[in-house]
Amino acid sequence: MTWEQPSAERSVFLSSLPASARDWRLARWVASVLLGAFLLCAPFAQVKLPEVWAFIPSYQGAYLVIDLITAILLFAQFAILGTVSLLVLASGYLFNGLISIPHALSFPRLFGPVPLIGGPQTTAWLYMIWHAGFPLAVIGYSLARGSRSIRYVGVSVAAGIAVVIACTVGATLLVTAGHHLLPQIMRGDGYTPVLPIATGTVCTITLVALLLLWKRPPYSVLDVWLMVAMSAWLFDIGLSAVLNAGRFDFGFYAGRLYGLLAAGLVLLILLIETGAVYARLAQSFAIETRRQEQRLHEVQAELIHVSRLTELGQMVSALAHEVNQPLTAIGSYVRASRRLLLVGATEKCDEALQKASDQVTRASQVIQRLRQFVKKADAQREAEDVRQTVEEAAALALLGPERHGVYLAADYAPDLPPVLIDKVQIQQVLLNLIRNAVEAMRDSRRRKLTIKTMLSVDGLVEISVADSGPGLPEQVREKLFQPFITTKPSGMGVGLSICHGIIEAHGGRLWLTESPEGGADFHFTLPVLAERELASAPLSSRTLA
Ligand code: ADP
Repeated sequence: MTWEQPSAERSVFLSSLPASARDWRLARWVASVLLGAFLLCAPFAQVKLPEVWAFIPSYQGAYLVIDLITAILLFAQFAILGTVSLLVLASGYLFNGLISIPHALSFPRLFGPVPLIGGPQTTAWLYMIWHAGFPLAVIGYSLARGSRSIRYVGVSVAAGIAVVIACTVGATLLVTAGHHLLPQIMRGDGYTPVLPIATGTVCTITLVALLLLWKRPPYSVLDVWLMVAMSAWLFDIGLSAVLNAGRFDFGFYAGRLYGLLAAGLVLLILLIETGAVYARLAQSFAIETRRQEQRLHEVQAELIHVSRLTELGQMVSALAHEVNQPLTAIGSYVRASRRLLLVGATEKCDEALQKASDQVTRASQVIQRLRQFVKKADAQREAEDVRQTVEEAAALALLGPERHGVYLAADYAPDLPPVLIDKVQIQQVLLNLIRNAVEAMRDSRRRKLTIKTMLSVDGLVEISVADSGPGLPEQVREKLFQPFITTKPSGMGVGLSICHGIIEAHGGRLWLTESPEGGADFHFTLPVLAERELASAPLSSRTLA
């Protein structure tokens, strides 16, 4: 058998974890200590010691608990891995634990002058069955190693437990009801010549179990410790059934301690390994968390990249959208100049051409600012006068024939502090909001545009643009500020989303309410220049005012 590439699940279990050099070193060391202690104890095996009756139930109780816990842990591993060998071994441990119950009940003079069950031979024969049963389970475990996994683990565990209970009951019935059929093995607290045959058989079975484990590499951590357990089992039988003379001598006590050790060894390793498994799990959890965080960063970077691309797309659309405004104005001024030139009004014509030239500058500024916005370069923020910024934008937005008939109601709060803004960008916002408002009122009987400036409650400057149009259609309201939402045949649906981006980039907020005239009322806030900055900052618009 060769080890399968251990999956994350398999590599955490004793039964599937390949034994490391450290496991071997430790197992060899423990086995040597056990052998050394056995050799030391062997000469004194027949030394009679006091009859400590409490020793028997304490020993049997500890034995039962240890074996039951080991069986539960092994059944649990079987439930996950589904390997038959584990099922056999877990059943072996269960048998080992259960058989100690009738063994204790049959122990002569333990619970009174007459044993609770069986006759004088019952305990000794139960000892033999018990000591043969465990190595037999280990043999089964060795032979089943490498066989295919079982899928129906629940049923298998139930079947394993049922078989073990049946075996325990069967063995108990044999040595109690069938007591008279069994050869005599005990004479009082001493042994008869039948004993060497029985112990020889049990020792042989244990040796076979040990050899089978040894002969079937590669070894798991469990294999290695089962070998140590089988050695301790041999020392147990050697001291308490071969070398000693009867009950309550040194061999009897020492052998039982070996038995306890043999049973507890796998449990001890299982528990130690469980701790190690937790540590490994915690480690892999930490690694996995780090990996996921890294992946998250990658995904975030990808998203940022994608959103930049989307933004770039928006900006390109916006460029066309916003440049269209000065171009329209230029067109109007040039047409007006032509008409003025034809009637000989050269002075007015010069004025109109100057305005057209201003719009050319504005168009190029728009392109420059949008490029900066795309590049995410720091916007050029300066201290600007709110009223002037709004008035310029409104004058520009209300150019052209379609703006005719719109009544502008301006309400500028006096003494507003200067705002720290990129004027061109904020004027783009105003242009867009005013143009949308005018377009919305195209079919309205009453066309009133209200622009207000005020100091907002949070100390920012608030500007609002309200109209008397029909208000925002439901489909736009639902996805307010999302790009490419438009109800206009030639609209691009990017204006509001760009306005939103610009205002947020300024640290302000853009929101919508219903205007008192029933139409849309867009509000936005802008940061003001702090007082201490006021003295030093150049107020470009103050000089213009
Ligand atoms: P566009 O003007 O290209 O459609 P916008 O993002 O500026 O893109 O506007 C999106 C949509 O919002 C418009 O198509 C229009 O339906 C609606 N809208 C914007 N402002 C108003 C307004 N003041 N009144 C009514 N609807 C408006």
